[in-house]
Amino acid sequence: MNTDDKAREECGVVAIRIDSDTASHDAARAAFYALFALQHRGQESAGLAATDGRRMSIRKGLGLVTRAFAEDDMAALQGFASIGHTRYSTTGEPSVRNAQPFQIETRHGPLALAHNGNLVNANALRQMLLERGAGLSSSSDTEVMIMMLAASPGESWPERIAACMRQWQGAFSFVVLTRDAAYVARDPWGFRPLCAGRLPEGGSAAASETCALQTLGCRDAADIGPGRIVELGPDGPVDRGGIEPAGRQAACVFEYVYFSRPDSVWNGASVHEARRRFGAALAREAPAPVDVVIAVPDSSISAAIGFAQAANLPYDEGFAKNRYIGRTFIQPTQALRDQGVALKFNAMPGTVRGKRVAIIDDSIVRGTTTGPLVRLLREAGATEVHVRIACPPIMHPCHMGVDMGSYDSLVAHRLSVDGIRSHVGADTLAYLSHGGMMRALADAGGCAGAGLSGGFCSACFTGDYPLDVAGVAGKNGFEVP
Ligand code: SF4
Repeated sequence: MNTDDKAREECGVVAIRIDSDTASHDAARAAFYALFALQHRGQESAGLAATDGRRMSIRKGLGLVTRAFAEDDMAALQGFASIGHTRYSTTGEPSVRNAQPFQIETRHGPLALAHNGNLVNANALRQMLLERGAGLSSSSDTEVMIMMLAASPGESWPERIAACMRQWQGAFSFVVLTRDAAYVARDPWGFRPLCAGRLPEGGSAAASETCALQTLGCRDAADIGPGRIVELGPDGPVDRGGIEPAGRQAACVFEYVYFSRPDSVWNGASVHEARRRFGAALAREAPAPVDVVIAVPDSSISAAIGFAQAANLPYDEGFAKNRYIGRTFIQPTQALRDQGVALKFNAMPGTVRGKRVAIIDDSIVRGTTTGPLVRLLREAGATEVHVRIACPPIMHPCHMGVDMGSYDSLVAHRLSVDGIRSHVGADTLAYLSHGGMMRALADAGGCAGAGLSGGFCSACFTGDYPLDVAGVAGKNGFEVP
């Protein structure tokens, strides 16, 4: 159960190919560093697979990237190409059994696959595999994907990958490792980010976000277009075909609101700049009569800066955050949740005492954290607390790889804006409008990416899903009772 009042990050994927002429054994180590840069996208498990052209090795573990692998693991991951994954379980229970990558033997040699997103037709595809007599050992939709790929028709891996992509519905940015090569590909709707670039000393890298490529010193980093399949070549990424982009593009707006790191760039828009503009638009739509603007660190800082700049108000640090507390230690009762908030945040009396305070948050999902934060500010001496949210109310669950819980758990589905205000104990509460968010995203350049015509998914705000979600399995829909 997600007890933190944020949608859970889905997953992060990476793939590395080091130039085989200069080959050393460090493809997996480079993948490790890239995964470390994607830690915000999943903290429950991590995995790496590597190939040296003859043998494939794999290591997986629970917890943060730095805890999941010991030095022995890294030494065992030999080879010129590697893929990696850091996971939050959008489908399946959190366990090593469901950790990625998955690896199997096929008639074409060893195969490993890791995936970011969620197939909305996984239930039907799983049934189809079971009826054909395939054995499945986990509750993850990634296992469905690798089993289908192993049996896929085609003369080459790109052909087999394309044949599978035609059958998969939903969000899937994925990385594939074969004995001889690494491939990455993206669903035709373009839900989740995926980018690739050239490594400075030969070879190429791909990752969910540009921040990971930047960590590796990549050059010429670019988005992988919706529906494209790319091989990581010794001299840089090489397009290997793909399938037609969907008529309706659906880049996930929530990547800009909360998931992605502020130093990442996607579809031509800097995530920091998009958030700054969300905050500025919010200040224009819902001004607050305050003396100081503060953020809920860290994901709300860009929006709070934008709000303060647009309102010509001082921005200051109102909370100190303990960045070392693990989310898993926050417990599922209200009392322990309050305690979890107190463990994680301290209000700064010097900033808020005797002042009217605007607190900017990027989003409210369950409504469990805002109330305790408002209380901390009042206890620290704030005379008024005005809450401003830099996105619209989240009223619908996501079926494309983001865990926001069910309708019942979404506070904006249950309560009106004034009901939420009263629930969290704020003097006033306002959200950014959907139109304001989309205009701010366009102004930040968020329609200029490869293959995108400016189409976004914002279904968690509007209920307008870009594809049919009727057959979706729940997060634990494949668990064996
Ligand atoms: S429903 Fe929301 S979180 Fe899910 S893909 Fe669409 S915008 Fe992203």
